[in-house]
Amino acid sequence: MPLEGPLAPVAERVVQLNDRYRHHGATAVLERALSDAQVGQIALVSSFGAESVVLLHMVSVIDRTTPVVFIDTQMLFEETLQYQVDVSEKLGLTDVRIIRPDPEQVKRLDRFGALHLSDPDACCDFRKTQTLQTALKPFDAWITGRKRFQGGKRAALEFFENEADLRIKVNPLAHWAKDDVQEYMINNRLPRHPLVAQGYPSIGCKPCTSRVAEGEDERAGRWRGQNKDECGIHFINGKPVRIGAEGNEAAESAAGEETMSVIVTDNGFAVDDWNGNFAGPEEDAAEAVLLASDADPEVLRERVGSLSMIAVEFPSFADGRGFTIARRLRLMGYDGRLRARGHVIADQYAMARRAGFDEVEIDSVLAERQPEAQWLARANWQAHDYQSRLRAAV
Ligand code: SF4
Repeated sequence: MPLEGPLAPVAERVVQLNDRYRHHGATAVLERALSDAQVGQIALVSSFGAESVVLLHMVSVIDRTTPVVFIDTQMLFEETLQYQVDVSEKLGLTDVRIIRPDPEQVKRLDRFGALHLSDPDACCDFRKTQTLQTALKPFDAWITGRKRFQGGKRAALEFFENEADLRIKVNPLAHWAKDDVQEYMINNRLPRHPLVAQGYPSIGCKPCTSRVAEGEDERAGRWRGQNKDECGIHFINGKPVRIGAEGNEAAESAAGEETMSVIVTDNGFAVDDWNGNFAGPEEDAAEAVLLASDADPEVLRERVGSLSMIAVEFPSFADGRGFTIARRLRLMGYDGRLRARGHVIADQYAMARRAGFDEVEIDSVLAERQPEAQWLARANWQAHDYQSRLRAAV
């Protein structure tokens, strides 16, 4: 629905919408989301996967002219493409928008369709994330099928979410259990994706989806054997809302697109509260300095008392020189804020803290791959850290 009058900031509207509809059920939330002026222009984004038919059916009952966005990555199963046609027709959906990756990008990045083998994140990024972001430009909000029972960051899902202050994400099924989904499909005699019966409870692109054995997690067949469990189209639940600041080269992705930064502390993910720029070590008047991984921290010896923030770059998680820089800065007497920035992984959090870092800055792509729970598992790092326990025992 078009917005009337001036538009309040996304964050404000999300709070109000959650307050207003907190005690409503899934169908009521969806119905209101499709008509509430505070939500604005809205689309359903559907993968036409194993459980997608629930929301598609609900939308068709409430308003079958609702725009439905379907990302054809051009790597999908034939069965999914056919299911999309069949379900759309059966439900009478009149505005299904099939979006595909930019052909120029396909030519440039994945001419042979094999990028998923060497760099699945880059593949998902241009085939899914960027394609969707372009398609969502005319919309103020979008509907997703995510649910709390799916765990991870989804465990605290609200009906309405702030997506990076850009638009609202609506999750009508947030509070549904697995059984609710199954019951809804049975009660409404909805057609199932044909691959479900063949052992695929979660369905994505063909090369990245395998059958799931009995007893396995239902997403176990997605990117099997790889350190990846999300495609990246969902930002991180409203927390990392800072787009790379001016001078923040580390927040630029390899493709030159801006990504968002996530600050990891002992308390988990946080919004970056540092609003200033980072200068090079040669700028004497700067309050915050960014050091490259091959920098000599000696250059800052005379200034350790005047700097509020030093960030040290980690170009690769295999490059440990930043840990040494941090130790040397602390030995020089620097007691300001010290940040590890770039390719640091959750397993290195204890080492980063031990070396003297206060926090880690990662980008949203890594945060999707290594969600907050993985970092929080290392938050109580001193309890598990051999050297800390040794010191405590002395
Ligand atoms: S799921 Fe696989 S094939 Fe599909 S976009 Fe991601 S990496 Fe590429």
